[in-house]
Amino acid sequence: MAAEPRRKIVAGNWKMNKTVTEALALVRELRGMVSMLRDKVEIVVAPPFVSLYPVAKAIEDSNLKLAGQNCHWEASGAFTGEVSAAMLKEAGCTYVILGHSERRQLFGETDETVNKRAQAALKAGLVPILCVGETLAEREAGRTLEVVERQVKGALAGFGAGEVASFVLAYEPVWAIGTGRTATTAQAQEVHAALRAQLARLYDGGTAGQVRIQYGGSVKPDNAAELLGQRDVDGALVGGASLKAGDFAAIVKAGA
Ligand code: PEP
Repeated sequence: MAAEPRRKIVAGNWKMNKTVTEALALVRELRGMVSMLRDKVEIVVAPPFVSLYPVAKAIEDSNLKLAGQNCHWEASGAFTGEVSAAMLKEAGCTYVILGHSERRQLFGETDETVNKRAQAALKAGLVPILCVGETLAEREAGRTLEVVERQVKGALAGFGAGEVASFVLAYEPVWAIGTGRTATTAQAQEVHAALRAQLARLYDGGTAGQVRIQYGGSVKPDNAAELLGQRDVDGALVGGASLKAGDFAAIVKAGA
């Protein structure tokens, strides 16, 4: 039997933007704009923690899903400022973004802590969106594949094929995030294909064929169709452009 085609997944990472009132206004506008797409493409929004529950209520019975922007590896305890995977799940999340380059660069995230968070996420019933990506210096030194493959291997340590098949990877070159500088379609496709080949080596071809790999880094309405048209690009992780309902809806439509 032929394998199911991978359904595209477009996620909006709102980062530290939007109050609860603003988040609700944005998601209500977005909901109306993408309702006609039904399940042609999976649509995910990742607001700040305080807006998760109200946004979950606002997207009930819609084709939008919810993601947290991070979670801690422990289930509960004295970890001031942190949020557990079970808390995200109960608030209405399906996904959790882990290992975003801002977390790695600004908050000391490592491959090991990303792995621990992913273990906790899976245990709580969340699907991890695991972010990897090279810096400009690493790309210029010809180390792109070595870096992203190390990050993937570290994030997936200890997971079995059956678990990994449902995961989402996000290739986000650090030099393309929030800079207006996008990877070319060829650069994106090269890394995505390399990551899929790595998954086939680590697990098997069937698993590699099921894992969805998003591209992230200055995805906008005018470059989305070309990027999402690449063979191994299964969606987008969108930062800045996800803060405007019209722009994000246009990117989602490019994936449909
Ligand atoms: C991101 O933060 O994941 C991202 C890709 O941001 P931007 O789209 O703004 O480059």
